[in-house]
Amino acid sequence: MNQELLGFVVLTFLGGVLSLILCIYAYLNIKNTPGGKYYILATLMASFFTFSYGFELLSYELEQIKFWLRMEYLALPFIPVFILLMCLDYVGKKLNRIFTFVLFGLPFVTITLHLTNDFHHLYYSSVSLKIDSPYPIVELEPGLGFVVHSVFLYGVVAASVVVLLLELRTLSTKLKQQILLMVTGVLIPIIASVFYITGLSPNGVDIGPVSMCFSFVFHGIALLSYKMFDITPIARERIFESIDEGVLVLNQSNVIVDYNQAMINVLPGLKPNYIGQKLHTINDIDSTFLSLAMNETETDYHYTNEGISHYYQVKFTSVLNSKNILIGKIITFTDVTKRVALEEQLKRLASTDGLTNIYNRTYFVKSAEEYLNKGVSISVIMFDIDHFKKVNDTYGHASGDAVLCNVVEIVKSCLREEDLFGRFGGEEFLICLSGTIDEAMNVAHSIKDMIQNMPTLVGGHCISLTSSFGVTNTAHIEGEISVQALISQADQALYAAKENGRNCVMSFKQSVEVS
Ligand code: GH3
Ligand code: MG
Ligand code: MG
Repeated sequence: MNQELLGFVVLTFLGGVLSLILCIYAYLNIKNTPGGKYYILATLMASFFTFSYGFELLSYELEQIKFWLRMEYLALPFIPVFILLMCLDYVGKKLNRIFTFVLFGLPFVTITLHLTNDFHHLYYSSVSLKIDSPYPIVELEPGLGFVVHSVFLYGVVAASVVVLLLELRTLSTKLKQQILLMVTGVLIPIIASVFYITGLSPNGVDIGPVSMCFSFVFHGIALLSYKMFDITPIARERIFESIDEGVLVLNQSNVIVDYNQAMINVLPGLKPNYIGQKLHTINDIDSTFLSLAMNETETDYHYTNEGISHYYQVKFTSVLNSKNILIGKIITFTDVTKRVALEEQLKRLASTDGLTNIYNRTYFVKSAEEYLNKGVSISVIMFDIDHFKKVNDTYGHASGDAVLCNVVEIVKSCLREEDLFGRFGGEEFLICLSGTIDEAMNVAHSIKDMIQNMPTLVGGHCISLTSSFGVTNTAHIEGEISVQALISQADQALYAAKENGRNCVMSFKQSVEVS
């Protein structure tokens, strides 16, 4: 036998055996992993095709060659189809029904045309033996069917490469190698068939099937050493990217090793080129964030971006190597903005009065006690709206509410930031302020005058009011000073003010003198 031919035959059979081994290996080990099922079918078809081609090369008679050619075509059109499905399955995508139908339908048309070519010559316009070849090689003149089949075959392979390359953008370097190895495996037989089609292959031998040896070696390497169909690294990367928590990975020298997409919400200035840089050498990084990350303080991280507050719960996890030596840390940021807002709302609800939004009685007393503990001179003013029942009776409860809110706004305008203001109940209010009794009396007088002079406009009515005030100061308390004692004295003074004809201010001292 011609040495060159022998070389091709051996290589072709080796290719067939190799793909059969890969097919069996895949069946035993990876049939349930993504892409695995189609890999088994592709290698099975490729093995059948390559063996048939080997027999075609061994044939001397034209009829014998045509028989093995027909055998080849029972498998060949399906190989690219299974490769495309393998690639799609590998990257987690699915084909719709119409595409699947076309994808399988066209190979059947090709096979039928090929088998019946002697009757219509649509696939090959002529099939003959090459005259000038040192060994019998078939010469095929392509017909329309062949052209359509070739376009389909290259189109499907191109689609497989596109599917893989699109995936490439989103993956890390290690996973990119896996995909590139697969792309190479897909491309090798295609490059070889381009040689065949353009007449560059030696003596017109189709080196496509021979090249499959190399293609399968690539797939084999990818399969065994890079675990081509092992979903774990891709799944890990996907989870890392898809979790809502921001994750930042630092090595023991606080160099940024990795971060996920959600981390950009925590640190909006984070850029890919920061990977490899020490955290404290990056200017854009917020100083609070920096000290938190370096000192490993497990507190909430708060920052304001364009006026909106964000809160993150921070967790640190040590990264140890196989010898239990600390090599870095993972910092996780869980967005707790909603929880913090809810807590603040609950706190506010627990401390404020629902109608007027000022302190409720409990919170007022608690805050006044804290004020008192500072040891400064404190005054308490208690006031009550005069004949308020009449307001409700005349204008209705809703108008009464509006009047209360208006009074609260008036009082607020007379107070300082540090003064405490609360609703004692109904239309009775309390004010706690530092300073002397005289200062408090002045404040009470100005509030009284403002309330009298600023009627509430509601529902087309102008509601005028007066109010009565009782005022006391820590200096007036004999014995133990307490908020309760101050409130009780202010209440007594207010009672005296009401007795005095209302619309007036009375100090505790005056009330004692009157009684
Ligand atoms: P006085 O001058 O003696 O204080 O007379 P008054 O009518 O104001 O009497 P009192 O303080 O005893 O009555 C308070 C009234 O305030 C009784 C209640 O109907 C009304 N009131 C209490 N809380 C509210 C409220 O939240 N909204 C409204 N609209 N009215 C309230
Ligand atoms: Mg009243
Ligand atoms: Mg009252």
